[in-house]
Amino acid sequence: MTGAGMNGAGSASGSGASVTLSNLEKTYDRANAAKAVDGVSLDIRSGEFLTMLGPSGSGKTTTLMMIAGFETPTAGDIAIDGKSVVAMPPYRRNIGMVFQNYALFPHLTVEENVGFPLKQRGVPKAERAKLVAEALELVHLPGYGARYPRQLSGGQQQRVAVARAVVFKPRLLLMDEPLGALDKQLRENLQLEMRRLHADLGITFIYVTHDQEEALTMSDRIAVMNDGKVAQVGSPEDLYDRPDNRFVAGFIGESNFLPAIVRGLEDDVVIAECEGTLIRALCPGRPTSGEKVTLTTRPERLRFTDGAWSGTTPQNRLSVTVTEAVFAGERCRYMLQAGDGTSIVLKEPSSTAIRRRAVGERAEIAWSVADTILV
Ligand code: ADP
Repeated sequence: MTGAGMNGAGSASGSGASVTLSNLEKTYDRANAAKAVDGVSLDIRSGEFLTMLGPSGSGKTTTLMMIAGFETPTAGDIAIDGKSVVAMPPYRRNIGMVFQNYALFPHLTVEENVGFPLKQRGVPKAERAKLVAEALELVHLPGYGARYPRQLSGGQQQRVAVARAVVFKPRLLLMDEPLGALDKQLRENLQLEMRRLHADLGITFIYVTHDQEEALTMSDRIAVMNDGKVAQVGSPEDLYDRPDNRFVAGFIGESNFLPAIVRGLEDDVVIAECEGTLIRALCPGRPTSGEKVTLTTRPERLRFTDGAWSGTTPQNRLSVTVTEAVFAGERCRYMLQAGDGTSIVLKEPSSTAIRRRAVGERAEIAWSVADTILV
């Protein structure tokens, strides 16, 4: 499929639109100064699958609505392919959209629903039929054209909504929690389909979700939103392995947080005292000696030193007591307590070859310096 949209908004550089948000702000109620979106700057590349991820109320939908043109920014700019669109009405932006609640017209057939944006654009009937058939093929629903939405499952309705959003060949597709109403199994299947669809179409996707697993599975890059601001932008690996701050470390996956005091620096490694022990951590900044900091590390990166998984790369070590031990099928999950009471979670792949720990047992844990980040 090429990017030469029949309504062709902007010139095609690649088949996906690039989107630039510059210091974007939105205040709904001027009497109440709280900003729903508070200075968001983001460069979304042509053909990228970018997800805005964040808790409820963090400003994701508002940002998406401003890109679509259904909300007006209080300040800042939105450019599509380098051209400001802030003054352009939604229909002229030529953007496809999919929402959580399908929003199909109940009294129209699948074919009429998918053909609706084409009809609005004055596409002749024969051409319309061809494009609708192509779009239904793309979402694996050929032959469903004559049905009504009520005759389809939730997953099928959402596929129809996607077909309707891409039938006019937009270069940008916005999706707001499109899988939110579906059960887990179906959601996981459709996540993979969305990725495939993205690869097939080659257009830019901006996707909103509060589900971190969904974001990690599908996205080229994720913008983590908190309180109307972008907390960090990066690839799923960047965010998981190198969180910039405590919010991102806590929101994406599970993290341990260890209070520590900086004692020294060695190149890009900070040496900090935690529970009377020196721990080494990666650190982009230059903290000063004596500064109180927080170190973070992932539960699955920790090992008991006398277990089958010990004895690799540069290690941090800490003495702990087991306070909780849970067998959870593929993993064992331990709650540990370090000297003065800091709680630490350790997850170990379950294996009959690895000895299970008992509550009350003393142990030493170890983990790689590369898996320790100062946040
Ligand atoms: P998210 O999509 O991350 O859940 P929203 O963009 O929906 O976040 O909301 C951000 C903030 O703006 C919230 O505090 C929300 O209550 C407020 N808000 C959203 N829509 C409106 C509106 N139409 N009028 C007033 N406040 C709104």
